[in-house]
Amino acid sequence: MRRPLVAGNWKMNCGPSDARRLALEIRNGLLGSRTGTDVVLCPPFTSLAAVREILQSSTVGLGAQNLYWEQSGAWTGEVSATMLRDAGCNVVLVGHSERRQHFGETNRSVQKRVRAALDAGLRPLVCVGETLAERDAGSTERVVTTQLSEGLEDLGAAEWGQLILAYEPVWAIGTGRNATPEQAQEVHRLLRAQVSALAGPEIADGMLVLYGGSVKPDNAAVLLAEPDVDGALVGGASLEAKSFLAIVEAAGRRPA
Ligand code: PEP
Repeated sequence: MRRPLVAGNWKMNCGPSDARRLALEIRNGLLGSRTGTDVVLCPPFTSLAAVREILQSSTVGLGAQNLYWEQSGAWTGEVSATMLRDAGCNVVLVGHSERRQHFGETNRSVQKRVRAALDAGLRPLVCVGETLAERDAGSTERVVTTQLSEGLEDLGAAEWGQLILAYEPVWAIGTGRNATPEQAQEVHRLLRAQVSALAGPEIADGMLVLYGGSVKPDNAAVLLAEPDVDGALVGGASLEAKSFLAIVEAAGRRPA
């Protein structure tokens, strides 16, 4: 039985003061709740320290939204995996579609980031997903399986066990238009089958595959009721404690 995970991607929102306030509300909202759901918050780099302080001695994990694959040196503006570990992160998003769309990330650069994250002891939360044009052209399967196989080349068995996947259809991110539960389940099952072929059935069975794309309190329960949807990667709705906590709650109620 996979324990559900809900991760909040705050994107470029919440500087340290707002981040502290939001993290505190979320931490307090989770106190005493027995949802059986793991929670990770991914603030911007500059708010990691503030959120870390709030989350210490709580079970909520800390994630970053990106990393660079070199360890240190003349890479102005970049942040390495070891720096993120040092800043208290245990998770890092890799290959978010906004990174692919606006910052030129490719499956090859995703692969380098995954390698760097794993080498530093971070769990990469790797995002895949098709654009609307790709879905309309019937290419969803080819796109997501290629993103997965090219982005996750050369992993050892133990490393596969550290990964978290997120299916995030690009057309559903920040648009208010979520995938239907059936559309999500279809792709999640496909990704799990691919992991099974690449890493074996045991790894595939334990792999968390999150859904992301306009998850809100009112659609979380039906999406999370699908057998291969193990949690959610939440953007917009993670910026308000009440809606984020409602999604965490919904994840805790998913059928066993
Ligand atoms: C995301 O940024 O990963 C995301 C899913 O955003 P939203 O929930 O706003 O669609």
